[in-house]
Amino acid sequence: MFAGHIGVALALGRVERGVNVGALVAGALWLDAVLWAFILLGWESVNIPADFGATHQAEFVFPYSHGLAAAVGWTALAAALALSGHARLAQVRWRAASLFAAAVFSHWLLDVLVHRPEMPLLGSGSATVGLGLWDRMVIALVVEAALVVFGLLLFLPGSGLSRGKSIALAGLSLALLAFTAVGMTIAPAPPSASAMAASSLLTLAVVCALFGWLGTAARARQA
Ligand SMILES: [Zn+2]
Repeated sequence: MFAGHIGVALALGRVERGVNVGALVAGALWLDAVLWAFILLGWESVNIPADFGATHQAEFVFPYSHGLAAAVGWTALAAALALSGHARLAQVRWRAASLFAAAVFSHWLLDVLVHRPEMPLLGSGSATVGLGLWDRMVIALVVEAALVVFGLLLFLPGSGLSRGKSIALAGLSLALLAFTAVGMTIAPAPPSASAMAASSLLTLAVVCALFGWLGTAARARQA
């Protein structure tokens, strides 16, 4: 899941306008950023199976990014960072910490929905969970699209963004939904695990930067 995580971040952005939605998008995608970085470091792994062209599902060993225990740890770290930093947000830091925690942990919950039972509860070799909705790809993509539309409908009204930025943010979200759908249906298998990891990491960085820029309202800069 990719665009669906962004939909959740947009919905959370409605709760506290003082938090840049790009930071919430980064929170919602954080476990994947850790995953791709750890794959490049050789600490986690992804296998591209022979039937990838039919299923579009890679096989992951990812206890430190996508294990339940690890996800709880990353969630606590995100909340702690939000509490300690952001002096500018002192009045709302508890709310900001809750939002970052929700963004990071929502990733694990949504991934459990779509992944096959490959998400460990503890470390490597522990019991794994996963409801496998990606085996019913059309339904999975409908859920993902609903999350994006729901997020946009919640976030945009009252965001204070200019009309141009609102349109660009909606366009970017829908383009990433299309990108996700193509990636899960007709895209060819990636040439290698490290190429998949490097291109995914780059994509995440660009996406977070774009949402950070588009999510900055003019009035926030003047304040
Ligand atoms: Zn993930």
